[in-house]
Amino acid sequence: MMQCPICKSDKDSKYLCDYKFEIHEDKKYFGNLKIDRCEKCDFSYANPMPNSENLNFFYENVYRLPNRPPYWVSKNDEVSEKRFLEDKNLNYLLYLSTLIDLKNIKNIYDFGAGFGDLGFAIKKKFPNVELFCTEHDKQCVKILEKRGYNNDQIENIDEKFDLIITLHSLEHLVDVEVFKKFYEILKPEGLIFFEIPNCPKEYFSGRPYDGPHLLFYTKKSIETICNKFNFEVFRIDVSSYSFNEDHKFQKESQDRYYRIKSGKTFDSLKQLLKKFIPVTILKMRQAILNSKNIDEMHKLGLFTVNSGDNCYLRGILKKK
Ligand SMILES: [Zn+2]
Repeated sequence: MMQCPICKSDKDSKYLCDYKFEIHEDKKYFGNLKIDRCEKCDFSYANPMPNSENLNFFYENVYRLPNRPPYWVSKNDEVSEKRFLEDKNLNYLLYLSTLIDLKNIKNIYDFGAGFGDLGFAIKKKFPNVELFCTEHDKQCVKILEKRGYNNDQIENIDEKFDLIITLHSLEHLVDVEVFKKFYEILKPEGLIFFEIPNCPKEYFSGRPYDGPHLLFYTKKSIETICNKFNFEVFRIDVSSYSFNEDHKFQKESQDRYYRIKSGKTFDSLKQLLKKFIPVTILKMRQAILNSKNIDEMHKLGLFTVNSGDNCYLRGILKKK
């Protein structure tokens, strides 16, 4: 039995289930995994953890390749650069600006920044804010640079920050020691704004896949981490879709990947047709699709908070 990454003991841990890959080929980076659960910390984790060389390679080169879930990154940088206006990002901004006074934030460090959408949106409104981040993905690095981020390895970060942002990153780590570093680089009473999947036991039944997450948090495990690393919970919510809806969307996303990969598909046919149809017609068609698209209803999930079985945990932690 592997030690629980939070309490460092194996006495309350036991096997929970086998690991399910979203993209089966990813197994070559992650190996044969099972999931263990520590009852005391209400925390689940992959066992054994993949080696860091493979993981680094994966996150630098593979994770955000075009036509891959969960990000479906576009080859066109202009499309990626507009993502900061998407509902999800505006929802983060609304949450943050409701709970903290953003004009007091002088600098921000985004751990696992992706394209750095949230910091970028904040900087649009508060141009003096300084942006730092750690992000190794090759698709993201040049956009982060263009947006004025100082991007560096986490070991090299030695500024003191008002705010750390970490959205859908902590679940990709092999342990929770990053909270020690967060403590060191925060100013007194500095804040961490996080969002991660919410993974109590019920989450695991019916899930299509885990990949490529390695740590599975709950409200209680966040509280345990706070006690261990000297943070207080300023605010914690469950947010977004219900487990059932989330599982459904995950399945759709996975199916889409394998459809595109198989090459003979409607999706790839659509890509091919796009090359021959004038842009204006495509735009009109897109407007019609958008107005009817049932996917639009998914957005309502982004505004659902604390209704019980939601699939994300979101909150703000404060340095003690
Ligand atoms: Zn534990």
